[in-house]
Amino acid sequence: MALSRSAWLRMRHIRHRLPPPASSKTGKHERLHIVIIGASMAGYHAAKSIAESILPGSPYQVVVIEAHDHFHFTWVLPRFCVVEGHEHKAFIPYGPYLRRIPERALRWIQGRAVHITKHSVRLSSGEEIPYEFLVVATGAGATDSLPSRVQSDEKTEGIRQLKDIQQKIKEAKNLVVVGGGAAGVELATDAKSCHPEKTVVLVHSRDNVMHRFGPGLQRAAMAGLKELGIEIITGDRLIREEKERGVVILKSGREVECDFLVNCAGQRPNSMLIKELSPKSVTASGHILVEPTMQISDGSLPNVYICGDVAHNSTPNPNSRSARAQAAVVADNVILAMDGHKPTKKYKPQWLEALIKLTLGLDKSVTHIGDFDGTELLFSTQDRDLALMSGGAWKHMGATPFQDETETLQRFVTRT
Ligand SMILES: Cc1cc2nc3c(=O)[nH]c(=O)nc-3n(C[C@H](O)[C@H](O)[C@H](O)COP(=O)(O)OP(=O)(O)OC[C@H]3O[C@@H](n4cnc5c(N)ncnc54)[C@H](O)[C@@H]3O)c2cc1C
Repeated sequence: MALSRSAWLRMRHIRHRLPPPASSKTGKHERLHIVIIGASMAGYHAAKSIAESILPGSPYQVVVIEAHDHFHFTWVLPRFCVVEGHEHKAFIPYGPYLRRIPERALRWIQGRAVHITKHSVRLSSGEEIPYEFLVVATGAGATDSLPSRVQSDEKTEGIRQLKDIQQKIKEAKNLVVVGGGAAGVELATDAKSCHPEKTVVLVHSRDNVMHRFGPGLQRAAMAGLKELGIEIITGDRLIREEKERGVVILKSGREVECDFLVNCAGQRPNSMLIKELSPKSVTASGHILVEPTMQISDGSLPNVYICGDVAHNSTPNPNSRSARAQAAVVADNVILAMDGHKPTKKYKPQWLEALIKLTLGLDKSVTHIGDFDGTELLFSTQDRDLALMSGGAWKHMGATPFQDETETLQRFVTRT
């Protein structure tokens, strides 16, 4: 696409004012749906971008299917499992991000998709929604619990779960954290920095914590953990917890005293719906194979697009930035296809997408950027905001921190 995106979209609006082509695809009142399953970092952005481009009089309508009643801001979850009083900031109201979208361009369903065919999506309510285009942005970690994911669709229950884990961490004398990825390192360092009197042990199955990243970040994370006095056990895994004896048993046979265990082990992509429709497109890890255009790698499903954590692609460290970049490609390709063109936009991971800011206690963090050749840039930072600048994320989503303006979504909502 040689034109800039905004120039291209402006041209579409100008062309729209010209007389319509002789052969129109639909009758006057028939709706053609672009169904988007999952409205988090990827799906919410795709929904907004596509719905904004729907021209007046167009038969197309975006239909969003999202299980949660609020946008779950994952970045702050490990912190809010430890620090009290900020829980509500992890739940950004859906709606304000969609302010500029006309009502007819979007329908919002708070519900769960349970089955996909070549032509339609079925909800747990039984409703069947036919689609022209389908965007699957179901992410990862649906079966995980805190600190990686909130195990509830309702904000009030999510807040209760966060308060519950805060209390348990507060009461524990010996805390064991399993998993040395970002969530485990952040939770362990926050817990020890908040409660220095506790014993905190981090167990990780690989030789180095943060193993998906470069050696520079691995060293920085190790140093941050050690500086706080956290015991690190690497190359070992949890076998079971014996609550009555107050211990966990590791694969090596070692027993570690534990009166509260937090599991931060890896997340699995939510690809079950696609596995039923196109088993060959799902890898052993559960990721969905995609083309550079973000169309599913199954020639019989050219109108099915995949983006975000559920997609298998060359992104070195899938995160919110890569999810959003993929969603932008999906949106542009769906817009091209709606206009009768070939989807030609391609996703190419950019090195800055891999940027990660890892907190190492309440007031310290390290920002890491790694390129594809293994070069790493690291910046140490001092942090003052206990809520990790969640207000910025709210503003980015068009919301006023921290007002729960869910009523802005009501004009699009259909409850199922
Ligand atoms: C603890 C933690 C901290 C993180 N910190 C950072 C960070 O600092 N920076 C960063 O860039 N990234 C961070 N990430 C990664 C980031 O959260 C993910 O990369 C990003 O959320 C992926 O977005 P997604 O839209 O692909 O999927 P997800 O965020 O996983 O969302 C999937 C959505 O789909 C919905 N859904 C799933 N199945 C269905 C269904 N059948 N029907 C209806 N709805 C459905 C879910 O309800 C959910 O809203 C962090 C992740 C975690 C777990």
